[in-house]
Amino acid sequence: MTTLDNFANASSRPYWATTVKFGKPSEPASSDIACDLAIIGGGFTGLWSALKARERHPDAKIVLLEAKECGQAASGQNGGFCAPSISHGVSNALQRWPREAETLIRLGRENLTALAHDLEHYQIDAEYQLAGKINVAATPWQVKGLQAMAKNYAQFGIENSLLEGDALRAKLDSPTYSTGLFEPNYGLVNPAKLVAGLRESCLARGITIFENSPVTSFQNTKQSIILQTLNATVSTQKAIMATNAAQPLLKRLRFAIIPIYDYSLTTEPLSDAQLASIGWNDSHGVADSGNQFHYSRKTADNRILWAGFDAIYHYGSNREPANLQRTDTFTLLAQQFAQSFPSLAEVRFDFKWGGIIDTSARTTFFTGTACKGRLAYAMGFTGQGVSASRFAALTMLDLLDGAQTERTNLQMSSQRPPPFPPEPLRSMIIGMVQKRLAHEDRTGRRTLLLRTLDALGIGFDS
Ligand SMILES: Cc1cc2nc3c(=O)[nH]c(=O)nc-3n(C[C@H](O)[C@H](O)[C@H](O)COP(=O)(O)OP(=O)(O)OC[C@H]3O[C@@H](n4cnc5c(N)ncnc54)[C@H](O)[C@@H]3O)c2cc1C
Repeated sequence: MTTLDNFANASSRPYWATTVKFGKPSEPASSDIACDLAIIGGGFTGLWSALKARERHPDAKIVLLEAKECGQAASGQNGGFCAPSISHGVSNALQRWPREAETLIRLGRENLTALAHDLEHYQIDAEYQLAGKINVAATPWQVKGLQAMAKNYAQFGIENSLLEGDALRAKLDSPTYSTGLFEPNYGLVNPAKLVAGLRESCLARGITIFENSPVTSFQNTKQSIILQTLNATVSTQKAIMATNAAQPLLKRLRFAIIPIYDYSLTTEPLSDAQLASIGWNDSHGVADSGNQFHYSRKTADNRILWAGFDAIYHYGSNREPANLQRTDTFTLLAQQFAQSFPSLAEVRFDFKWGGIIDTSARTTFFTGTACKGRLAYAMGFTGQGVSASRFAALTMLDLLDGAQTERTNLQMSSQRPPPFPPEPLRSMIIGMVQKRLAHEDRTGRRTLLLRTLDALGIGFDS
């Protein structure tokens, strides 16, 4: 079988969507209404915002407006890696916000623990497990990166172990990787079950959800914020914008994020013997250490999700639905899978799909307000939003309540990242940076352009 044959009959739906029943979509907004809080976007960020707003304001009238159906965008398409981090990792926190790194690291860990408690409290079965993650290195310069990571982790008391030889092979046996760094405090979740559970919890607590109700514009008036949907007007005292990678409704944010496409394959269910042939007996996740990196994990029915590497930008920030499928990337992913796991080279892929990552130039989310503090937004998660979305939701609620908290005081999230330039410069720069990142992956050498961007605190990641 060639690698193209391996996914010839794969479904183009995300695997996760087949594991959960969402029930009937909620009716679209069809008549004018008034509410206390309106939330735009029904992914993790919007749903956590609604649920946490209900905890704070038991009697408030809360409405959530989703353009399609909840969880049909990134929240239902991702790898389900649930990081103990809100800052896209420890190194990113240290490099960009050295003075508040310790706080960011602590808050990220607290957020993961609190998320697990929330799942228990709301009885959301999202297959959450603290399964751990191995970061694996394929080249000598990546090994150095893992050693530096271990040093940073030690500085903050983060449990980890460097694995080589038999110790690594006992967790993952692949000719590609020479070294691994295992961190036990890392969660994995079934993202579609998480969205479905959050949505159910919202509905059960009297939050009104309108699906297939895109907000097309908004207006700030003296009395309220007026949101316009296709068939209705929603007049609200406060609003949250949780629209992630969509073109932001707020003009000032149009240059703050770019849509980067990331793709996944998922194998057929594998036997215990097949998994044992690659040493993958436990349930931890795996991520490469290169700039272009794979992330990989097992599912509840013993498939392997194998994703990442390519990070595709389309000229003009094009977001056509057709971009969600990309045969060249699926072929490359299938080839790389076969190289990394030769004993599984013949397995079939049952699912192939893509999703959009809302990439910010600082690789972390940011929050802010508009409409004289009555509208809050959060976006820019850059491939690490499964757990950070909960924290971002809480930050937005703090902002709307006018509360000064440890969350709202963070430099990381309160400062807007540097803007991306307009086209055609945008495509040119992204292309140049991607070439340099691939060069570093091949040679281990970080070129002047990347070092200059590092010095300016600007990054590119997916
Ligand atoms: C392929 C892929 C893999 C990823 N893997 C991981 C991972 O393993 N771990 C991790 O931490 N992160 C990962 N991420 C990132 C993570 O999925 C996101 O950061 C997270 O889901 C963001 O949640 P959200 O609610 O902000 O966005 P979304 O889930 O995108 O939700 C935004 C919602 O807003 C709606 N919307 C947009 N505009 C409007 C409008 N005008 N009116 C009404 N509704 C609107 C959209 O329809 C959408 O449903 C991945 C992302 C992708 C794409």
